Amino acid sequence: MSNILIVNCSKIRDVNCVACLKCFKASELKEGEFANYDDVHIVAMSGCGDCPGLVMPKVGLVMEQADYMERQIDAIHLGTCMVKANKTAACPIDTEKIKEMLSNKYGIPVVVGTHNY
Ligand code: SF4
Ligand code: SF4
Repeated sequence: MSNILIVNCSKIRDVNCVACLKCFKASELKEGEFANYDDVHIVAMSGCGDCPGLVMPKVGLVMEQADYMERQIDAIHLGTCMVKANKTAACPIDTEKIKEMLSNKYGIPVVVGTHNY
């Protein structure tokens, strides 16, 4: 079982991409960036901290809370919403750089993207 934290775009989540149906579907069916897992469990979803992208402190809070709540996080995914915000709008986040920073800080895999719908 892989326990996943998804970080998402605070501007898109539940606005253009409602109720996070797409990520829940992809994780359940192991599609998109979830295809390589044997079993997927989304344990947490968190906004990016809003523009201009306060991802590191926001994920820091999530990890602290996850520890407090005794919830294991095995991998972090940057949602497809973040990828779209980056490629089609003025999102200032460098997803590859954030991926490296998160991976270095927490020592777990970080994947850019979630679903392909
Ligand atoms: S890409 Fe995933 S995490 Fe982002 S808003 Fe859509 S369903 Fe939610
Ligand atoms: S920083 Fe990027 S990912 Fe975060 S809310 Fe703004 S546009 Fe969305």
